[in-house]
Amino acid sequence: MKLKKQFIEAAKDVWGGKLDLSRTHLTTHETEMKPYARLKVKGKHGKALKDLLIKPPYIAELHVNPKFKKLSKEKQTRALKHEAGHLGYPHHGKDFINLMEKTGGAMSENSLEKTVFYLQGKPAKKGGRYKTIKGFETQTELNNFVKDFTKKNKGMRLRVKI
Ligand SMILES: [Zn+2]
Repeated sequence: MKLKKQFIEAAKDVWGGKLDLSRTHLTTHETEMKPYARLKVKGKHGKALKDLLIKPPYIAELHVNPKFKKLSKEKQTRALKHEAGHLGYPHHGKDFINLMEKTGGAMSENSLEKTVFYLQGKPAKKGGRYKTIKGFETQTELNNFVKDFTKKNKGMRLRVKI
């Protein structure tokens, strides 16, 4: 499948079948870069509200690196869903993350794996360092774990890495 078509399919999975990109000038490029895929928006960013794409950007460039083609279809789709999310959200904020979780998109440009939320903790006392406690595939799993964990580990400082 041509990359452009593949991206539009992924975008429909993320934003719903009625997605209209007819006013978006979308081009695809093969670029030497570290992440497998990246969406560059020129001019104004798109606008979204939760899982509704209110206004896609007018100019969007989809870049993939030469290794992209060698990924499995599943990973390609996950990467493209992530980039499709950037049609509406420029950054990886909470709404973006929720959208990725709901639609199976990758959580970041650098992680195509399923386990993407890493809970890290450090003791409350000074000088401690954050250590990874556990990895999770979904935010729901993470939230459930944290509820129980904080009861048993009072005072521990926690953070999440994606
Ligand atoms: Zn991103």
